[in-house]
Amino acid sequence: MRAVTFQAPGEVLVSEVPEPRIEDPRDAIVRIEASGVCGSDLHIYHGRVKIERGFTIGHEYVGTVIAAGDQVDSVSAGDRVLGCFQTACGRCFFCRRGWFHKCDHSRTFGHGATLGSLPGTQAEQALVPNADLVLRRLPAGMSDEVALFAGDVMGTGYHAVLESGMRAGEVAAVLGLGPVGLCAVQAARAAGAAHVLAVDSVPARLEMARSFGAHPVHLSDGDPRAAARELTEGRGVDVCIDAVGDPRALELALRLTRKRGTVQAVGVYAERCEVHMGLLWIKALRLCSGHANVLGHVDSVLALMSAGVLDPSPLVTHHMALQEAPEAYALYDRREALKIVLRP
Ligand SMILES: [Zn+2]
Ligand SMILES: [Zn+2]
Repeated sequence: MRAVTFQAPGEVLVSEVPEPRIEDPRDAIVRIEASGVCGSDLHIYHGRVKIERGFTIGHEYVGTVIAAGDQVDSVSAGDRVLGCFQTACGRCFFCRRGWFHKCDHSRTFGHGATLGSLPGTQAEQALVPNADLVLRRLPAGMSDEVALFAGDVMGTGYHAVLESGMRAGEVAAVLGLGPVGLCAVQAARAAGAAHVLAVDSVPARLEMARSFGAHPVHLSDGDPRAAARELTEGRGVDVCIDAVGDPRALELALRLTRKRGTVQAVGVYAERCEVHMGLLWIKALRLCSGHANVLGHVDSVLALMSAGVLDPSPLVTHHMALQEAPEAYALYDRREALKIVLRP
């Protein structure tokens, strides 16, 4: 079958790879009908997250189950499904507490040996371990390109807001308006934020945040700190979500947030970075981090998307064939797309 494989930084290829086979009675095999290109894929593309040459990438997917092991109960062959970007065992210390994202035996699709050697979903088929936990049947009437978001990006935006502890009536800021940031804007509005300040430097992304009900502020042409003060009688925002994963964004987040507020660093950090601990300490801020518990939130997110409360459809900017993956990655790298959906 055909699959998108990592070759070298800046180079992906559509290659012939072996078809997956059921390896465990809890596995399923999904024929992929749509797969997204994600910001995390870009970290691999840039060589910032290191994986083996020739490994199949991608971790957002919708498709049809074509085979299921004997112990899979919740889906069967012929079901249209969406899946989460990582798997979990459901049995370890962390899973028993519902922290599926920190499962001791978790595997992430398309991230090479360091994250469990689970081939990615930008392919014609994918093996899905622990299918009962990882897959959900597509809700009636939901398009596959909307459903894609439940298993990763919208789950992450939702998690960022939920974990921040933001209460209805509070003011949130979101730094970085890529797909995760824009989903966080929607999730914050859905959770009752009185105002959402949305900061980026790409005009089209600011405009989209405005259409989701946020106050857009250009990072350099505008003044995010003044805007935060204006919305909060000078205090600073209650919650600031860093959806960038860069020390400069984290620094700005510490400055925008009020005393006793929360900074939620949901953007990917892979390197050592300096945090102004004095500022964090004197303001008694709470700093949350880590990737999202998408497995834990997928049912809530699907319900909110089904009801139209969360609607990621405006984020889908490009449809391309799987075969065009090299162009898709180059386009995404130039920040000309928000969500590219690849179809085999
Ligand atoms: Zn992703
Ligand atoms: Zn586990």
